Amino acid sequence: MSEMSLPERDRRCLWHPYTQMKDYARRELPVIERAEGLFLYDLQGRRYYDTISSWWCILHGHRHPTIARAVHEQLDRLEQVLLAGFSHPPAIELAERLVAITPPGLAKVFYSDNGSTACEIAIKMSLQYWRQTGHPERNRFVALERGYHGDTIGTMSLGGVPEFHQAFAGLLFDSYRLPAPECYRCPMGKERGECGLECLTPFAELLEREGKHIAGFILEPLLQAAGGMNIYPPAYLQKAADLARAHGVHLILDEVATGFGRTGRMFALEYADLAPDFLCLSKGLTGGFLPLAATLTTDEVYEAFYGDYAEGRTFFHGHTFTGNPLGVAAALGSLRVFAEEDVFGRLGRTIPYLHRKMARLRELPWVGDLRLLGTVAAIELVKDRKTKEGFPPADRVAWPLHLQGLEEGILLRPLGNVVYLWLPLSVTEADIDEITDRLWRVLADPGRFGGWPRT
Ligand SMILES: *Cc1c(COP(=O)(O)O)cnc(C)c1O
Repeated sequence: MSEMSLPERDRRCLWHPYTQMKDYARRELPVIERAEGLFLYDLQGRRYYDTISSWWCILHGHRHPTIARAVHEQLDRLEQVLLAGFSHPPAIELAERLVAITPPGLAKVFYSDNGSTACEIAIKMSLQYWRQTGHPERNRFVALERGYHGDTIGTMSLGGVPEFHQAFAGLLFDSYRLPAPECYRCPMGKERGECGLECLTPFAELLEREGKHIAGFILEPLLQAAGGMNIYPPAYLQKAADLARAHGVHLILDEVATGFGRTGRMFALEYADLAPDFLCLSKGLTGGFLPLAATLTTDEVYEAFYGDYAEGRTFFHGHTFTGNPLGVAAALGSLRVFAEEDVFGRLGRTIPYLHRKMARLRELPWVGDLRLLGTVAAIELVKDRKTKEGFPPADRVAWPLHLQGLEEGILLRPLGNVVYLWLPLSVTEADIDEITDRLWRVLADPGRFGGWPRT
């Protein structure tokens, strides 16, 4: 029997996430053998710019030596220990650091291992908080259309991306949904930058009517990522947060995607004046090295769980790898890079440069909208710029664009009609030149791969 290739062995026994495996029935997926800086290298030695930061988590480039060293050193001391009834030095140090770099009210850190659990923990804590403070009637949650908080049953229940979650509708709990602050297709019929945040009126009305039954309001600050890279103004975030606060509703900020510099600030919440009750972190937390998550909350929430064991106030939640020492060491390494390398100084130059380079894409008539925030740049493709008519899902324009991107050595995984770059913070001006040129080549000639009729 001849030896099977790695892609063949992959096909035989590996089931990939968010992937229709039939797409690979006759096509080999790239098998990545190593990575360095901005690049992924496959078995054939082909090189790809990691233009989506390996699903939004790589910060300082692949295998950054400072983080690698931190993990190596940790590996020589302690690889894993339970965090129930035990602690370990890096877990303590990282908790201190996270409390120090987030808004003043956040004082306690609860670890887990992925973004979905970070959000699920916030929801459970909020619910149990109200139960234990004499308000069991506060048991409903509010979320946004096009919001995304993970793939567990709980977080899907607060998701607003039916494409992903409709198969599981029967399992999800009831919650309130607000219109997405989608400025390109304003639900209130306004133009971007010329509105009075009318899309928050339904929230104000809901709070008037049901406020006393609402435990918490969860949203992704400034950038609804998985829902289609919808970027919305800080004024919306501010007013939404103020409304929630005025009705005693917990503000749960999901910064799993936006945290750690991606938006040009350490956290997206810094674009407004906010005091969240919960802050959910993961993805970039370890610089993309290892799975780790953290849910931060206030002393007030913590106190509601504090008491004699017999009072039954304990938070019964935990994951085997909660606060895994290697992950925590990687996170400390990543924070060290922020401190040592003037990351934000560099971003002060590269982000405006990226935004300028992206502007050229507006010349293409099928580029309907260009949305920019930090190192994230998203393009919404339309059939007709005037009517903003999109390409029907059945056309699946994302697929040829993905394949064409691979040909050009960039990673594109469009969300429906939205093509985006989600660049590592370490990207340079020269990288940006190269990446945006390649993106231009992918988008400029859609006829080549049967995308859509040319205008
Ligand atoms: C990715 C993501 C999650 C889920 O994180 P996982 O680690 O994939 O479970 C939650 N919230 C937001 C905003 C995300 O982008």
